[in-house]
Amino acid sequence: MSIRTIVENVRAGGHVTASEAAVLFHEAPLPVLGRLADEIRARKHPGDVVTYIIDRNVNYTNVCVARCNFCAFYRPVGSSEGYVLGFDEIFRKIDETIALGGGQLLLQGGHNPDLPIEWYEDLFRAVKQRYPEFRLHALSPPEVIHLTRMTKLPVAAVIDRLIAAGLDSIPGGGAEILVDRVRKILNCYGKATADEWLDVMRHAHAAGLRTTATMMYGHVETVEERIEHLTRLREVQDERGGFTAFIAWSYQPEHTQLGGYEATGAEYLRMLALARIVLDNFPSLQASWVTQGGKVGQLSLAYGANDMGSVMIEENVVRAAGAAYCMDEVEVVRNIENAGFTAKRRNMHYEILGDPYFRMREVPRMLELATARAEGDASRPEELNSYAARSAREKQLRSHPR
Ligand code: SF4
Repeated sequence: MSIRTIVENVRAGGHVTASEAAVLFHEAPLPVLGRLADEIRARKHPGDVVTYIIDRNVNYTNVCVARCNFCAFYRPVGSSEGYVLGFDEIFRKIDETIALGGGQLLLQGGHNPDLPIEWYEDLFRAVKQRYPEFRLHALSPPEVIHLTRMTKLPVAAVIDRLIAAGLDSIPGGGAEILVDRVRKILNCYGKATADEWLDVMRHAHAAGLRTTATMMYGHVETVEERIEHLTRLREVQDERGGFTAFIAWSYQPEHTQLGGYEATGAEYLRMLALARIVLDNFPSLQASWVTQGGKVGQLSLAYGANDMGSVMIEENVVRAAGAAYCMDEVEVVRNIENAGFTAKRRNMHYEILGDPYFRMREVPRMLELATARAEGDASRPEELNSYAARSAREKQLRSHPR
């Protein structure tokens, strides 16, 4: 099929097939893809509003048994660089987030065998008790699966327990590429197969939660496998419409076992535009300025994105792999407005909350990203001793405290 025929079909509201998407990706000039994606964006979001959210990306632990070979963030059990945040540290981060106009934590972390489901429940309950209006966008599908293995409970039961404790929505992390051939090479098949990842999202949507979906591309996958990832997401979205948004980011290779190169900005824009075309049942697409920088992030708004994602207060995972772009609310809004759009704050459900916060209240400028912990801080939260130790290292620590 020719590019022209596929473009006309998409303009008429048609679904692209996987083979048509491959033709577009391989053969269509970038401006053609961009124009088509921008038309779809304008159809779904008429007017000139581009949204963003003020939240904080908190990684509660970096200790992880999954050992994905693309990850520069995790530390093995027993590492002197491993950490678990204390509840008080997390409360402090929430206070800082609220002071900057934020109302949500994006809470994700490693698969730490010494944090049982009760630790999460106690944390969520404590957050909700102190901050009843504050939202918890927490635990990506592989973390939920990790908890099913720790508790020996089915996915639905784990999600129900987390909701009862205060979970509001689930972030779409850990998807990487939803094709098992790729997941085996990345050593992330064990943490969640493609089917398992999608199954958690199905259960979350059935339980009434909204979730996002992500893709990390540019490592060992083929273009056809990226398209399979997109079409599998589209199928799940057809069932209940529980995904609010899709976020694609390029693999960040520094300090990883896998190594390699980062995809270019042009490839990112091509991928984003293709995602906007294939995911015709997803309401929103975020620009990944965290991996691409503000300038490509700004261009994303002409390639299908209608949202600038989060004002980054803290970031640990992407930074560990070499990217450390920082934009506070003033910068995010400046980039949106300079691209010709009107900036509005939103919540996780993409409901508009209002105009930029910094124009209504005085807030400190944040010109550097916060980290999970100050370098060298090896403190161990007291409350960890209230939960049963599972790893040999933690048991040893408890019996012979340093
Ligand atoms: S990507 Fe997540 S699950 Fe994989 S090693 Fe890193 S922290 Fe662990």
